[in-house]
Amino acid sequence: MIKINYHFLIFLIIITLFFADINLSQTQTKNNNDKVIELDKCGFPIDDSNEILYLSPEYMGYSYDSLLADLELWRMSEYVKIDSIGLSVQGRPLWQLTISDDPNNLEGKRTIHIHARTHPQETEGFYVTDEMIKILLSESEFAQTARANCVFYIIPMFNPDGVVLGYPRKNANNVDLESNWNTFPHQPEVAALKAQFTQLMASPNPIEVMLNMHSSSLCARYFVYHHENGTSSNYAQLEQGFINGVRSYFPGGIEPYTYFVSWASGTALQYPESWFWVNHGESVMALTYEDMYQCSQTGKFDSTASAILHGVMDYMGISVVPVELYSFTAQAQDQKIILKWTTATELNNNGFEIQRRFAESDFATIGFVRGKGTTTNKTEYSYIDKDLTDGKYYYRLKQIDFNGTYEYSSVIEVDVRSLDNYTLEQNYPNPFNPSTIISFTIPNVTLSASSRAESRDEGSRVQLRVYDILGNEVVTLVDEYKSAGMYNVEFTMHNLASGIYFYKLQAGDYVESRKMVLLK
Ligand SMILES: [Zn+2]
Repeated sequence: MIKINYHFLIFLIIITLFFADINLSQTQTKNNNDKVIELDKCGFPIDDSNEILYLSPEYMGYSYDSLLADLELWRMSEYVKIDSIGLSVQGRPLWQLTISDDPNNLEGKRTIHIHARTHPQETEGFYVTDEMIKILLSESEFAQTARANCVFYIIPMFNPDGVVLGYPRKNANNVDLESNWNTFPHQPEVAALKAQFTQLMASPNPIEVMLNMHSSSLCARYFVYHHENGTSSNYAQLEQGFINGVRSYFPGGIEPYTYFVSWASGTALQYPESWFWVNHGESVMALTYEDMYQCSQTGKFDSTASAILHGVMDYMGISVVPVELYSFTAQAQDQKIILKWTTATELNNNGFEIQRRFAESDFATIGFVRGKGTTTNKTEYSYIDKDLTDGKYYYRLKQIDFNGTYEYSSVIEVDVRSLDNYTLEQNYPNPFNPSTIISFTIPNVTLSASSRAESRDEGSRVQLRVYDILGNEVVTLVDEYKSAGMYNVEFTMHNLASGIYFYKLQAGDYVESRKMVLLK
């Protein structure tokens, strides 16, 4: 057994990549001086040697014992059943989770299979899988829909011996389980998973999506895309649709399907995906997913897991449309506030509680508007909150599903001011340098006789001017008709000396002045 340390292995990979002049999107064969080094789809050199590489277990991350502990936690969920599909070379069970709303009765459920950790060092592929398990065991609308329609078979650690022994890529017999699906006799792990696949494919609910979770030294998240030369043009399009669908849930996070293209010159027969293609053709979306292996951007396992699961549901045509709030606005008019909101889609939407907060109080429910239940049409709603006193109000919507789960909208703020009187507010800030804001209110009024000649139906001709302490006009800020409402005028005094100034509002018969201080 050759012991190498982790840093040396990474060094080896970097050197390999450096000399390789890689066209990442196409080929796996690389030149390294006069030697040909072939990288596998995970971006690691293919190792056919009989020498055993060894990584100290702490570099492996998640251990076999961690898995045993997590199995005990997962087992507590009513949505999980845990079995072993077989034994490894050293006799460790190959644990499989069955996740569905009733994992003991899977009649009519659509089937997804996920396995991780074929390559023990590629822990990130497991971390994404772990996040998928968390999502699927949650009480979110998405999880409920997924469990109601589907069964997820998940093998979190397909190569437990490799994890325990510290073999980065192989099992206890020093065989790469990823690329030996057509080597006979089979390794026990391969035989067990192949038997599991065979059994499920013969069942009334055959596998529709199979994901093989890895992580890549290329520091990118990607699916290994199988070229139509090794599949079919129709399957190539299905793959593109699947990959694009997942990417739409994690824009910028997952590479396009062109990032890593395999099978460009026929079907490579050694992989689990090959087994599906040869035996079941276009009926199974069988893909390897590669997460980022130990690089600076590694992370976001939850976003990745969510994107993959949403992509899987969409690909299978299982509609998950939570209530999606399109807009939420509020408008003050006289002493009332008109709330309007629009939903893009709804799923099991019982309705909306309208909640209001005033001054220092807590949010309280002031009304309820019934929802449309389930619809993919845009729906508009409104609610009028009447007889309000002046002040600042805050509103939010509590959207409630039929099953009682709920979500809050963002909070919006509205100012109610009676528009019965003209007002001229003290400028703010004051003293100021060099900018300040002056606020005033124009009421709904029948204008006085003296200004009626100039009047419109409502509103006033408004003049707002600034004077120095001797009464000389400094600037005219406003001189125009203004309809009823509240106005804020910001202005800046760059070229004036420090001192006291006045501002005067004249509107109809209303005249009011206030003092302000410029302090430089
Ligand atoms: Zn791998």
